[in-house]
Amino acid sequence: MANRLSLAVAKNLLLKTTTNSGAALRTFSSPAKKPISYNLEKKVAIVTASTDGIGLSIAQRLAQSGASVVVSSRKQANVDRTVADLRKEGLSVEGIVCHVGKDADRKALVNFTLEKFGGIDIFVSNAAVNPGVGMILETEEEVWDKIFDINVKAAMLLTKEIVPHMEKREGTKAIVYNASIGAYQIFPVLSTYSVSKTALLGLTKAVAAQCAPLNIRVNAVCPGVVQTKFASAITTNPEAAEEALRPMLMKRLGVPDDIGGVVTFLCSDDASYMTGESIVAAGGLFSRL
Ligand code: NAP
Repeated sequence: MANRLSLAVAKNLLLKTTTNSGAALRTFSSPAKKPISYNLEKKVAIVTASTDGIGLSIAQRLAQSGASVVVSSRKQANVDRTVADLRKEGLSVEGIVCHVGKDADRKALVNFTLEKFGGIDIFVSNAAVNPGVGMILETEEEVWDKIFDINVKAAMLLTKEIVPHMEKREGTKAIVYNASIGAYQIFPVLSTYSVSKTALLGLTKAVAAQCAPLNIRVNAVCPGVVQTKFASAITTNPEAAEEALRPMLMKRLGVPDDIGGVVTFLCSDDASYMTGESIVAAGGLFSRL
């Protein structure tokens, strides 16, 4: 019900440009299922937190583009369901439980991928948490630590585990961190989360610098407000959704497939001259000049 409400708000606010006669000329609507446009045949990809939302879309798009993909998240039932669903589409997918904050789980994810597919070419670090809302100077220490442990430290530690294996592979190799438009425009009540995402952009540049000689490109994606469980406090509350849409040029909330395609591009040869950068996909929320 709440979901339907927020969708109704979003639909009412869709940007319509009109002709002189007043007839609707263009509407920015959610994307139709896109054709497979990148060749990732023979590539092996790890996507963390990939049993729902944006991570699931990324895993699906990578696999639809020919990659073999390892999906993971904290709950076995979610992993099993995701593997079964993607395999129904004929995609090459394996799955394992991985809480990215646990060292043993991170190592198991890497070993499992090597065992199943023999190497790693693509790593998408997608997991994040936001256990508390509030202004920056009201953040409790344990909330700060949890956010930075999962959103930044786990991303770095997993990268550290994976890069030595990527190094051995030929051809296109790519790492993508899922940051946020909040990395550029701090959301005051999501301040610590936003700062963690700004830190991810720093991590992107630092890892890009070390990995360039290894022929591994490293970039980030910065989604706007996307309709997932994670963002449901905004997307299922009509007032919050309206507030989020106000500064947004396209006047619609994002859907996971708005992001899956951008990440697949970053992992492909079409992005062969990009590293240390970020792409914002936020419906016209501005990030920079
Ligand atoms: P989501 O739909 O709520 O999905 C979260 C996924 O993460 C689930 O598969 C969940 O499965 C898994 N997960 C949660 N904690 C985990 C952990 N510690 N280790 C491993 N897996 C974990 O979330 P989402 O909106 O797609 O968010 C994905 C990424 O997009 C995050 O980095 C988020 O910051 C970023 N982002 C989202 C938005 C947005 O508006 N939605 C905007 C900007 C950026 P289990 O429960 O089984 O673990």
